Amino acid sequence: MPALARAVEAAGLAVPGLPPKTLVAIDGGGAHGLGTVEADFFLFAEGQGQVAFGLATETGPLRCGVLPERQAAGAIGLALAAFAEIGGRRMRDLDAHGRAVIAAVAGFFPFEPTPLAPAPAPAAPGLAALSADSAALLVQAPFGRCTADRLEQVAALGGAQDVRLSAERGLALVVPASRSAALQAELARAGFIVAPDDPRRAVAACPGAPACRSGTTPVPDHAARLAQALAPLAGLTAHVSGCAKGCAHPGPADLTLVGRDGAYDVVLAGPPSGEPATRLAFEVALDRIRKAAAAGLPALDPVFQDDVPG
Ligand code: SF4
Repeated sequence: MPALARAVEAAGLAVPGLPPKTLVAIDGGGAHGLGTVEADFFLFAEGQGQVAFGLATETGPLRCGVLPERQAAGAIGLALAAFAEIGGRRMRDLDAHGRAVIAAVAGFFPFEPTPLAPAPAPAAPGLAALSADSAALLVQAPFGRCTADRLEQVAALGGAQDVRLSAERGLALVVPASRSAALQAELARAGFIVAPDDPRRAVAACPGAPACRSGTTPVPDHAARLAQALAPLAGLTAHVSGCAKGCAHPGPADLTLVGRDGAYDVVLAGPPSGEPATRLAFEVALDRIRKAAAAGLPALDPVFQDDVPG
């Protein structure tokens, strides 16, 4: 699969005019995969030397058919060129005719698609034995952002035999089994998520201010504090968004804080574009979440619904 990924990347770079967010998802068919991934094109291993070719639509990816792995990069190159020619921001924005044209260009004619099954879910952060002597150490960058300092700490780790980017916006390290627990603890101290029950995994967050000009609040800092406050209320999801665009998670969460002029619109059980139940400074919102946690409330509505949106 790494060779196929490199060939696909080269094919994409040769196509002028592709939208900047164009993404091809490639999954090798192992026990842990990409899961549900927001891509434009899909190449999923399906049997020995075969690859399923998929296209994104508004309602989920469609499987156009299978082709030999050695032909996959060429087919993607043709599909990408057709996509650039047709125009459109994302593949899912195209209508049925546009999809049929792209499928035909890639070699799938007549176009008789079926739903493309998602790849297996990604592995959770933690340790997995690879052999008697080595282990895989999977870590995630909080909210998908890795600072230069954190990367330097990874580079300075003693003992890691291999380091790769993981599908879950983190890193997969191959480490000696004898050092695995110590290295895991070191990466936890560096701020990485190293265990599946880390409360930050229940919270989505964008960069916010000052990284993004549309933000007015320090979103990752607020999201980390919110995750701690929310931890006792296991099972609830949250999203801290720098503005109503909701880049990190356009869908609904149990609690969505939407930044505006230095404070947050509070949306309950809705997306960033949802109707706010109230509007609060972050510290006030945090205090209410702590109260809900202390009272063992199963939902957040009672602590947020008494206010009138400001
Ligand atoms: S949601 Fe708004 S503030 Fe956050 S990254 Fe997107 S545009 Fe920027």
